[in-house]
Amino acid sequence: MSEMPEPIKNPEIQFTKIFINNEYVDSVSGKTFPVYNPATEEKVADVQEGDKADVDKAVAAARAAFKLGSPWRTMDASQRGRLMQKLADLIERDRVYLASLEVVDNGKPFADAYDADLGEVINVIRYYAGWCDKICGKTIPADGPMFCYTRHEPVGVCGQIIPWNYPLSMFTWKIGPALACGNTIVMKPAEQTPLSALYMGKLFMEAGFPPGVINVVPGYGPTAGAAIAEHMDVDKVAFTGSTEIGRIVQQAAGKSNLKRVTLELGGKSPVIVFADSDIDFAVANCHHALFWNMGQNCCAGSRTFVEEAIYDEFVKRSIERAKNRKVGDGFQSGVEQGPQVNQEQFDKILGLIESGKQEGAKLGCGGKRTGEKGYFVEPTVFYDVKDEMKIAQEEIFGPVQSIIKFKSIDEAIDRANNTTYGLAAGVFTKDIDKALTIANSVQAGSVWVNCYDPGLIQAPFGGFKMSGNGRELGEYALHEYTEVKTVTIKLPQKA
Ligand code: ADP
Repeated sequence: MSEMPEPIKNPEIQFTKIFINNEYVDSVSGKTFPVYNPATEEKVADVQEGDKADVDKAVAAARAAFKLGSPWRTMDASQRGRLMQKLADLIERDRVYLASLEVVDNGKPFADAYDADLGEVINVIRYYAGWCDKICGKTIPADGPMFCYTRHEPVGVCGQIIPWNYPLSMFTWKIGPALACGNTIVMKPAEQTPLSALYMGKLFMEAGFPPGVINVVPGYGPTAGAAIAEHMDVDKVAFTGSTEIGRIVQQAAGKSNLKRVTLELGGKSPVIVFADSDIDFAVANCHHALFWNMGQNCCAGSRTFVEEAIYDEFVKRSIERAKNRKVGDGFQSGVEQGPQVNQEQFDKILGLIESGKQEGAKLGCGGKRTGEKGYFVEPTVFYDVKDEMKIAQEEIFGPVQSIIKFKSIDEAIDRANNTTYGLAAGVFTKDIDKALTIANSVQAGSVWVNCYDPGLIQAPFGGFKMSGNGRELGEYALHEYTEVKTVTIKLPQKA
């Protein structure tokens, strides 16, 4: 962990306008929308509300920036890499401010925003900066007298729609590979958390990105988001959010111009704890797997399967750990858990907790709101949870752990896979055979053994089944942002 600086408790909100063509502009409609601090429920800013007309303007700017012969298209790949490195330097310079902005906008603890989120943001930009001049095609020994090779070309104008749980991390997961491959971007941040994305406009200009390469249009999903997904001049849409909206985005792409689609959606990820594991280690990791980021994590380990022999002890220690979790305003030092992002999420979580109680799950601790102001939910542990209960089926996206007993490895695998999701899975054991059997058998895009979500940006991340399509991060993400062109040249003779 890097040394923790003091946060800026009342960061000045400098940018609330739409960022198009390296300019901050008002919305065409003149409308704005409010942004709230979830710890205080107070309004922090009114942001210009982007809609279809603004998306059209942003797409036109991105299209112009992508034109053959434009500064961006003719820029050496190594220079693209230098711009991205410069961008990372600027984020590093403004790291305390940006982390503070995340606390105000999203509610997460400052230490997490500064260390985990901003650390990842900087690393992702640097990682993809390094890729810019290393994206290679192939020469192919095709039949003939022929010379055949592939070029990995940028896809074009990429629409990117992101959620509110990691505002700036999700932003950089998306722009990193898109820029490395030479695309242009129309980004829609989540309506709950647009502030850090808007500040990035200033840093793009300062780093020297040409106008139109990156455009940021804040606004609501069914208006601005839908306009991107339906747009006839957007070549690709990358979406992170709920499975429900993922379906809509894919349909919009199909109904419009068949733009390419990548989706990173929900999850109900199992963590399987065998009796041979170090129980304290497993309890600590399963706690972290669920409660990290207030449980607002698409890959949250939200079904904790525990082998019978250690089940009672595991439940007891998990409850103790959850009771010790420090909840409070993200600017308070030592806080592990801030508020949920807004009233809607808060109500949904409390509703699911109620359903858990009614369906007969045992409540070990928590279960209610905490404090009178702000969307704070007590760290909640349910045990004796059954697979068919709503809390074991639906994505809660809140600080609610569900502990489930199992007897055999085969049963654990069947039950772990018995979901429409397939984002991630964890396994805790000292037995390599069990670890590999689980790793090979679970339907999940990521499997973590004796750890949970170590956050390796060099490794691909994405979902099986209804958790999504395509992969983010690592080299794999580059495939999602390139078109492969095959060039074949007739030669006079074989040689
Ligand atoms: P959550 O329920 O966690 O807020 P959503 O899937 O609703 O997740 O939202 C994720 C992102 O998708 C946000 O930026 C949101 O504005 C956007 N979005 C919501 N509805 C649509 C839609 N119909 N078309 C495109 N984007 C949408």
